[in-house]
Amino acid sequence: MTATRKLPPHGTEYRYCGPADKSWPGCRCAKCTQAQARAGKARALARLRGEPPLYPGAPLVEHIKNLQASGMSYALIARRAQVADATISYLMRGLTKSCRRDKALRILAVKPADFDTSANRPAFMAVRRLRALYFIGHNPTTIAAAANLDASTVSHVANGRYATVDAATDIGVRKAYSKLCATPGPSSKAKKRAAALGWHGPLAWDDIDNPNEQPDTEGVVVTFRRPKVSVDVEAVARLTRAGKTAQQIAEELGCHKRSVVRARGKAEMEAAA
Ligand SMILES: [Zn+2]
Repeated sequence: MTATRKLPPHGTEYRYCGPADKSWPGCRCAKCTQAQARAGKARALARLRGEPPLYPGAPLVEHIKNLQASGMSYALIARRAQVADATISYLMRGLTKSCRRDKALRILAVKPADFDTSANRPAFMAVRRLRALYFIGHNPTTIAAAANLDASTVSHVANGRYATVDAATDIGVRKAYSKLCATPGPSSKAKKRAAALGWHGPLAWDDIDNPNEQPDTEGVVVTFRRPKVSVDVEAVARLTRAGKTAQQIAEELGCHKRSVVRARGKAEMEAAA
């Protein structure tokens, strides 16, 4: 079966040595000889630096599990780390307990949720973006036009119909989101739907791609609330004695009438005690 495999190029140590099963002979051309000598020196240097040639499998398995939890497949992780699919799957199945150091470092350098254009992605990122756009009044037709997608796709994704979406959908939704998320749309239907279903607007997310993030509804509500003013109970009592109404006192102190009434109650309770 190795006979059908492509030979490694000249100028590599593998071409110099040949395969373990001797199915093709090692090459002794100048380039291959030099490559073999260079590889030997690199190994000697690594040894002097105290870097063993093999990296233990356990931390790699841990890292790959984290990457997988972010929605990446083994094939995608292998593409990102520029290693063979088998390198990843053998590690995960426990068939290999260690890995060549350079490959291991490349695997460890792969970041979670680093999707390329041929990988499906978890849908939650597109779902959050679409729901945020509904929240501020964009309807599926507007969003679909900006995303270069079908309106029915937009609506299916927003409704949480899919667990994963293809790259084109996710990228389209990202494009629409960056275009529309700062401007309110005219669709009251979309707004009502988002509000009725408890969806969140763009401001609720710090990092909309973080699967562990909880939407911050606190900040959204507070902006609609009047800032809390602490009322000077003494002043209220003084102005009340001067015969002013709660409304007049409120205007004078710059607070709500209700706060004045509350402050009066507090003063009375203090007086009673
Ligand atoms: Zn050669």
